[in-house]
Amino acid sequence: MALDRFSLEGSVAVVTGGSRGIGEETAVAMAEAGADVVPVARSEDALRETTERIEATGSETLLFPQDVTDREGIERLFEEVEERIGPVDVLVNNAGVNPYFGSTNELDPETWEHIFAVNVQGAFTCAQQFGRRIAEREGTGSLVNVSSVGGVVALPYQTPYTASKHAIVGLTKSLAVEWAPDIRVNALAPGYVKTEFTAGVRENESIREDILANIPQDRFADPEEVAASAVYLASDAASYVTGEVHLADGGMAAQ
Ligand code: NAP
Repeated sequence: MALDRFSLEGSVAVVTGGSRGIGEETAVAMAEAGADVVPVARSEDALRETTERIEATGSETLLFPQDVTDREGIERLFEEVEERIGPVDVLVNNAGVNPYFGSTNELDPETWEHIFAVNVQGAFTCAQQFGRRIAEREGTGSLVNVSSVGGVVALPYQTPYTASKHAIVGLTKSLAVEWAPDIRVNALAPGYVKTEFTAGVRENESIREDILANIPQDRFADPEEVAASAVYLASDAASYVTGEVHLADGGMAAQ
C-alpha cells in the first residue's frame, strides 16, 4: 500500500530544536507515524510538553535537555537514546537561530559565530554522531537537515543566517554522496512559517506585507505543513531521494 511507505514504525528519531515550532510539530508527526522520538532543545519545560504529546501517541520518548553546541553532551545524548530506546536511525537537524536582521557592515563577529555554532556546527556534530554509529553497526538511516529558502536564495539583511543555511545545503549534498547507499541525506528548506522565529516580522505590518508579496501562495506556512515534509523525507516514501533540497516555501524560490 502506498501509504504504508510513509510509516516510521520501528524507527528511533532524534529531532533537535524539538521544544517548539517546526521541531515540536515534526517530533509529534514522526511519533504519529509510528517512530519513537527524542526531541532535543535547551529549555526543559518546553521540551516536557513535546514529550507529553509524543507519549500521548503511544510512542516512546526521553526528556533530554541539551544544547547542540556542546559536543560531549550530544555524544551522551546518542549513547543514552541508544541504551534506553534503541539505535537512532532518523535524525532531524532542526535547531536553529536567526538573531540578526541588519546591515552586514554593522554585524559583530560574535553574532556571526553564534549563528554558525548553532546552525552549522551543531548540525555537523549531531550528523557525525549519527553517521558514526550507523557505520559501526552497518545499519541504515535517514538524515533531514532543516535549511531554509534562505539556503537557496538570498534573504536580504540576513547575511549570517543565509550563509549558514547555504552551508547546510553543502553539508547535505556532501554527506548524501559520502554516506550513500546506507544513509539518505536531504535538506528541508521551509519558507516563512508561523513560529516564534518569525513573530517579529509577522507582527510588523509593512514587513509582513513585503514578505507576503513575495510568496506566491500568499500566506505563511503552519509548522505542521513543514513537519509533513520531514516525515516524507525520513520515510521509505522517499527511498530513492537523497541529496535533495526539498522546498516547502509556498513558491518563493520558484520566482
Ligand atoms: P523556533 O520556534 O525559534 O524554534 C527553534 C528551536 O531550536 C527551539 O526548540 C529551540 O529551543 C531550539 N534551539 C535553539 N538554539 C538551540 C541550541 N543551541 N541547542 C539546542 N536547541 C536549540 O524556530 P522554528 O521556526 O521552529 O525553526 C526551526 C528551524 O527551521 C530552524 O533551523 C530555522 O532556521 C528553520 N526555518 C524556520 C523558518 C520559519 O519561518 N520559522 C523558515 C525557514 C527555516 P531552546 O531555545 O529551548 O534551545
